[in-house]
Amino acid sequence: MSMTEYIEEAEQVLLHTYNRYQIVLDRGEGVHLFDADGKSYLDFCAGIAVFALGYSNENYKNAVKSQIDKIIHTSNYYYNVPAIEAAKAIIEASGMDKVFFTNSGAEAVEGALKAARKYAFLKDDTTDHEIIALEHSFHGRTMGALSVTGNPAYREAFKPMIGNIKFATMNDIDSVKAQISEKTCAIIMETVQGEGGIYPAEEAFLKEIRAICDEKDIILILDEIQCGMGRTGYMFAWQRYGVMPDIMTCAKGLTCGIPGGAFVLGKKVAENSLKAGDHGTTYGGNPLTTMAAKTVFEEYKRLDILGNVKTVGEYLYKKLDEIAQRYDIIKAHRGIGLMQGLEFTVPVADIIKECMNDGLILINAGSNILRFVPPLVITKDDVDEMISILTGCLDRIRS
Ligand SMILES: *Cc1c(COP(=O)(O)O)cnc(C)c1O
Repeated sequence: MSMTEYIEEAEQVLLHTYNRYQIVLDRGEGVHLFDADGKSYLDFCAGIAVFALGYSNENYKNAVKSQIDKIIHTSNYYYNVPAIEAAKAIIEASGMDKVFFTNSGAEAVEGALKAARKYAFLKDDTTDHEIIALEHSFHGRTMGALSVTGNPAYREAFKPMIGNIKFATMNDIDSVKAQISEKTCAIIMETVQGEGGIYPAEEAFLKEIRAICDEKDIILILDEIQCGMGRTGYMFAWQRYGVMPDIMTCAKGLTCGIPGGAFVLGKKVAENSLKAGDHGTTYGGNPLTTMAAKTVFEEYKRLDILGNVKTVGEYLYKKLDEIAQRYDIIKAHRGIGLMQGLEFTVPVADIIKECMNDGLILINAGSNILRFVPPLVITKDDVDEMISILTGCLDRIRS
């Protein structure tokens, strides 16, 4: 069948909750994707900041395949070895205390919110605690995660949200202070906002949040689902600031394609929140996903992924800065490591389509921001190729 025929069929059977690009992706190799007609694309999306290791990492593929032959699922009634090893890798990389594995990012956020509420409940035996989240944030599409997502358009039709959520502004500490009350049990934020437009937290802001949380015994939840797992050149973006959260959420790059996530607790919350019977999942932490996660950590070390992100991330920054100077439709350039954005004065949908025609996959973050979240194994040559396709498209659009 041709791609057009596949797409017609897809629209017959799949609920139309996405305005998908008009290509059918068939296979991947390194940092390239191939569509069902065999056309090749340089991939600067990585399945939305997921496929950190690229598409043909042999050790990852072999580990997952051999785990399929052994056992895929056991349930959480029993222990399994890959889950223990994956949890040890997360603890070693983060210095935090305990791990709960989930199936997705949104579920990690749900678990983090429950742990924070339970911590507060155990302290004062009341159930009207408040949570502060940030505008422009994205935490997922389930009801709890959506309730703390700072995009009113995503929430509107699904109200009522979970109660007692207040919103403040990223990098505006007074706006956070204004929302704090005796009832505040948690502050949840992304260390670097992703979907909302690539807005990194400023160091002073994050440090002041940490200080407020310490002073008032408020749980700091850092959502590292997009910015974590090496994307900023640090295993977790908060390590760049030296600000450890009480709870961290992970997903996306954690399992590199096999659906999975985790929420990770510092000692204080781990010892004083969720107890046996308080939370659960059928699939979460099964041997297939945790084998994937464990292997991801091993491959990060072997391939020095963090080193590559620092080097290539700086190079990408320099190149995007040059572009930002050159084109007056570009308003701003932000980001860290291999998580960067160019903000345009116009919607970027046409630019993305043009680039796709020329064999480059890019995505947006909001209507006016081009987002660069490639596999973390890209090289400077890949950056050069991306820049050359992108500037070609921008020249055409401008003229
Ligand atoms: C993608 C994302 C989520 C949601 O993860 P899912 O796996 O899609 O549920 C939550 N928070 C952030 C910061 C994300 O980027």
